[in-house]
Amino acid sequence: RDISAKAIRQKFLEYFINENNHKFIKSSPVVPYCDPTVAFVNAGMNQFKGIFLGTQKPKYKRVSNSQKCVRVGGKHNDLRAVGSDGYHHTFFEMLGNWSFGDYFKADACKLAWDLLIDVYKLPKNKLYVTYFKGDSKLGVPEDLETKEIWKQLGISDDKILPFGSTDNFWEMGLTGPCGPCTEIHYDHLGTTNRAEFVNKGLHDLTEIWNIVFIEYNRLNNGKIVTLPHLHVDTGMGFERLTSILQGKISNYDTDNFSYLLKAIHKNCRNLPVYQGKFGENDWNNLDKSYRTLADHSRMVSVCLADGIIPEENQKLRRVLRKVFLLSETVFKKEGLLRELSNYVVENLGPVYPELEKNISKVHQIIDYEEEIYKSLQLAASKDWEILTKENPKLLEVDVIETPSFIAAYKQISSAPPAEITSKLAFKLYDTFGIDEEGIAKISSALDLKFNPQELTDELEKAKLRTRESIICSNNNMYFDLVNEGIPKTKDNYKYSYSQNEGKYLF
Ligand code: ATP
Ligand code: MG
Ligand code: MG
Ligand code: MG
Repeated sequence: RDISAKAIRQKFLEYFINENNHKFIKSSPVVPYCDPTVAFVNAGMNQFKGIFLGTQKPKYKRVSNSQKCVRVGGKHNDLRAVGSDGYHHTFFEMLGNWSFGDYFKADACKLAWDLLIDVYKLPKNKLYVTYFKGDSKLGVPEDLETKEIWKQLGISDDKILPFGSTDNFWEMGLTGPCGPCTEIHYDHLGTTNRAEFVNKGLHDLTEIWNIVFIEYNRLNNGKIVTLPHLHVDTGMGFERLTSILQGKISNYDTDNFSYLLKAIHKNCRNLPVYQGKFGENDWNNLDKSYRTLADHSRMVSVCLADGIIPEENQKLRRVLRKVFLLSETVFKKEGLLRELSNYVVENLGPVYPELEKNISKVHQIIDYEEEIYKSLQLAASKDWEILTKENPKLLEVDVIETPSFIAAYKQISSAPPAEITSKLAFKLYDTFGIDEEGIAKISSALDLKFNPQELTDELEKAKLRTRESIICSNNNMYFDLVNEGIPKTKDNYKYSYSQNEGKYLF
């Protein structure tokens, strides 16, 4: 019988907390606290940034948790992969352990390896590890120490692989704490040595655990110096680990998602059930829509329960609108998201009680947003009819005909430029709220040149312009989560629901 996802999470925490002397720290909300550099909390380490920067003193030297993470927007934007692959989600849980000035490389690797091999019983021959091969431009040497540690742990040479700074050097920002990392990858097939395919984006050979050694500090002048205190920061994808232990290649075939896929079908009986097809085999994209809806319903429920307001967070609002659009066009069911949020709360509520506590707020906001969506759609559909008659190509590029897309498209098509320059793309992004995908669709509908990389660069520049002080000093808030509930910061629970007016107030 399969081990349940719940038992897998539990084992991880017991291993670090009961057997290896770590302190349990609750997941922080997915709302970034005092950190303007990210739209959502996207890793377990976010709440410990202050410790790495040296502005905060750690209360405990070893901690562990499972952190709610969202990767939409910013440096780690996985939105586009969601639904197309089986292992990137907008919302996922990251299992982590940390050492703040306590154990370092040798123990961190051994702890991880023993857990995977002795506790979870993963087959050794399907695992690969990577380490940092050094970078003269960075001024950081090859991490031979880590390579040797893996060797000592009994991993054969052909499964210890060097990688450069893109994959194996971690930096918080342009300056500050940084260091080499070592990663563990799993080959779901494992019949031959596939070292050459590690980090190549195969769906059946994926990264599962990232172990970062924070040992350097990058100064304003670009120089790298060694930190006085060495830290370890690790993160393992819980859904990916579950798929391995349940013998599945796609995360959607595990009990972290199957209940949602079933719930979708239960609400849409006239559609075929989810079959788990990917790419061209999924000829009408139905399975992809199933996956996207299941993924997004988790993300939306978690974000709303943590107090993020769609009105103020356009990224969340875009995800919501995508869900409403799918519900309308593919699943042909109103109120589907609200219904699915109940299942998410039932599944994740026991782990993250804030979901249970805030379920009525989650419902109210979903209802409210669906109402807005419907009225905007109504107005937009008239425009859309005219536009698609003028340019049938619009239908070919699989456009999400949101009102903002229509507004942006109208403006561009009324006086088409020679190409979509990075400046124009930035304007579409910034003022119309059109993402890279949407801009690519406008460009192909109008046959205009567009380079997504230039937009990425432009966004990066904008981020640097507006970057404020990264971290509040004296931020000990999250350590108080150990015994208390979710913190009521000014960023949390900003919305309120007026019983008198029967609506949700911003
Ligand atoms: P990948 O290369 O697969 O995109 P990553 O290198 O971006 O992963 P890290 O930032 O190292 O990921 O995060 C630590 C771990 O979290 C990863 O090893 C992976 O198991 C998991 N993870 C990362 N992104 C996602 C996601 N979008 N959905 C589910 N799990 C994820
Ligand atoms: Mg990634
Ligand atoms: Mg990676
Ligand atoms: Mg990684």
